[in-house]
Amino acid sequence: MPYDNSLSSETVRSALRTSIMGNRVDFFQNTTSTMDQARQAAMEGAPEGTLALAEEQSRGRGRFERVWVSPPGVNILASLVLRPSVQASSQLSMMASLALANVLRKLIPAASAVSIKWPNDVLVGGRKIGGILIESSVGEEGSVGFSIVGMGVNVNFDPTDHPEIRDIATSLRLELGQPYSRVDLLAAILDEMESLYAHINEGGSVRDQWAPLLETVGRRIQVTSGGAVYEGFAQGVDDEGSLLLRHDDGSIQTLPAGEVSLRL
Ligand code: ATP
Repeated sequence: MPYDNSLSSETVRSALRTSIMGNRVDFFQNTTSTMDQARQAAMEGAPEGTLALAEEQSRGRGRFERVWVSPPGVNILASLVLRPSVQASSQLSMMASLALANVLRKLIPAASAVSIKWPNDVLVGGRKIGGILIESSVGEEGSVGFSIVGMGVNVNFDPTDHPEIRDIATSLRLELGQPYSRVDLLAAILDEMESLYAHINEGGSVRDQWAPLLETVGRRIQVTSGGAVYEGFAQGVDDEGSLLLRHDDGSIQTLPAGEVSLRL
């Protein structure tokens, strides 16, 4: 490969241009999940922007405890500790998927191929290249104590080696036809996150940048929420990124991202 592709706290720290995101980097060659490490760090008072990074996870997961496949040495597995305002906390899933999509749109020649599958998957040409996972702790009187923004991004990964995701996944390497530096990609994602996070923490919204990238809106979809399956038309999203599902009788149901699984 034309660059040093190894990861460590030092290689990552020296590549970052951010002031908050990644101000502390906890690197693990192998851990259960970067979500576990970031949560533990947050509970011990880690500063906002602390980044847990791993080469390999024994219990990597997506939403609803779904398995996240990622062999060592090729991908980004990262979780950030944030301490957002209440208003910003409801936009973290939008912020993180938008940050990843924006970076990929600059790198991939067919920028229009980059889309977001509501609520948390970033796709290229309809295949998943990255997933976002948000976990928040409730602080005193219902305020947000801390939030963990997790991210799995397929960088130099070849998903065709993994039958369970072969037909639904892609990677930056597959899209570019050549490998890409994980450290450079991570630095670019954290730059983008830092500016979007500042915007939402100052009371701004990312909905109007995020919504046009959603491939879900305007289609007939099936969703599973709380054990029930609903079918309808994905009409749009509200300010917090919840999906507005129009049933055949015309009624509108608001589906918050955290509770819903979607099939197109
Ligand atoms: P779905 O994508 O099935 O609608 P979801 O958005 O909730 O569900 P996540 O929980 O974010 O998905 O991610 C877990 C799912 O992603 C797994 O069930 C698997 O289908 C898929 N997956 C696992 N590892 C990868 C990977 N490295 N790249 C792309 N997709 C993956």
